[in-house]
Amino acid sequence: MQSVPNKVDVVVIGGGVHGASAAYHLVKAGFEVALVEKGSIGSGASGVSGGIIRCHYTNEPMIRLALRAAQRWQGLEAELGRPVGYVQNGMLLMVDEDDAGVMEELVARQQRIGVDTEIIEPAQVERYIPGFRTDGLALGAFERQAGYADPYATANAFAARAQELGVHVLVETEVTGIELDGSRVRGVKAGGHSIQCRYVVNCAGAWAPRIAAMVGVDLPIKPGTLSMIAVNPRNPAWTRTSPTWVDMPHMTYCRPDASGLMLAGGGRLENETLTTETPDPDAPAPRPSDLFEAEMHDNLVRRCPWAEGMQRVRAWTGIDGHTPDHHLIFGPVPGIDGYLQVAGGGGNSFKLSPATGEAVAEYISTGTCTYLDLNAFSITRFQENRLFRGGYRMNIVG
Ligand SMILES: Cc1cc2nc3c(=O)[nH]c(=O)nc-3n(C[C@H](O)[C@H](O)[C@H](O)COP(=O)(O)OP(=O)(O)OC[C@H]3O[C@@H](n4cnc5c(N)ncnc54)[C@H](O)[C@@H]3O)c2cc1C
Repeated sequence: MQSVPNKVDVVVIGGGVHGASAAYHLVKAGFEVALVEKGSIGSGASGVSGGIIRCHYTNEPMIRLALRAAQRWQGLEAELGRPVGYVQNGMLLMVDEDDAGVMEELVARQQRIGVDTEIIEPAQVERYIPGFRTDGLALGAFERQAGYADPYATANAFAARAQELGVHVLVETEVTGIELDGSRVRGVKAGGHSIQCRYVVNCAGAWAPRIAAMVGVDLPIKPGTLSMIAVNPRNPAWTRTSPTWVDMPHMTYCRPDASGLMLAGGGRLENETLTTETPDPDAPAPRPSDLFEAEMHDNLVRRCPWAEGMQRVRAWTGIDGHTPDHHLIFGPVPGIDGYLQVAGGGGNSFKLSPATGEAVAEYISTGTCTYLDLNAFSITRFQENRLFRGGYRMNIVG
């Protein structure tokens, strides 16, 4: 039986990767914390994520945030004392002629920031993925330190370690209100109880706007559906350490899993429906459309003809929160003391979780963050016309 505390320093709302990581880092920093999750840990987007970890982004604040996280993934299993399924397999991103100049600039920028990445010619791709067809592709980037992990295991590893260190982990407990004293956070209503606190961190993913509305904040985040498919390519040369690849012109990504399947997602169709359809995050997740599955089949075979006889293993969808510029809204909100949010990383933010939790703990401890430009990720960017703009013509990268 879980017991609900009357008073803590911080209530973290949402037991996905960001909430669980925030709770873990906050307790390590000396705070008394309650992590409140309406379902089970990892039951939101974090439980169905592709789990890809990379630093190939188009703007400096995001590259720095991803790099900070990437530097933590190697040691995370040992730190948390539990498996997170991390594999460093490297990543290959390929673009056509129209995006080649942008890629050269971006790789130089990423290298300056410290990312282990290099430009490669299409003829060199064979070295990384034997039998990979490069028709229509002009240039590639290989990121050596990229990898993947198991997102459900990661959320649960953060939460379990946090609980061992003293966090009150409250599952099947819904937050229904946030109490303010003027403009200052005073407490949270959760599962019929009141929990007094000085800080609230909104990590509620696709539900984050509902939480933000409890303090009068209109969060520009919309739920959007992402689909993935797992196939067995029946090719022993494709293994758990084969590189993740991204075919930018066809907006498709593919990574291996521990058993040597190909997990693929993206596609043009999804890119269109993300902006035109608004799913209900509380509705049961639908299965991906036949059109999505057909597109993935074609895009996998286009690049990896040896996968033609692939066996479909499973396919699924998940709902994440998406901002208009596809980047997180992260940090405090001017005018509401004690309220922070980490939400809206639409299809992109699993990899960042070791660093977002660390940043939340540092901000609440010191009022600043030494390695992250919080202002760049602030909600104020939408009023101040400082939106993130993707560099590539075909933007699935961010
Ligand atoms: C199919 C798919 C593939 C993806 N692939 C990748 C990838 O390869 N790499 C990558 O980096 N990212 C990827 N992402 C994105 C990434 O998984 C998400 O951005 C990330 O997991 C979001 O984590 P979160 O903690 O913000 O949200 P969630 O995991 O959704 O957690 C939010 C939690 O809040 C809880 N909650 C909501 N309302 C309340 C309430 N009132 N009270 C209490 N609890 C509440 C929910 O139950 C939920 O568990 C993918 C996402 C999807 C869907």
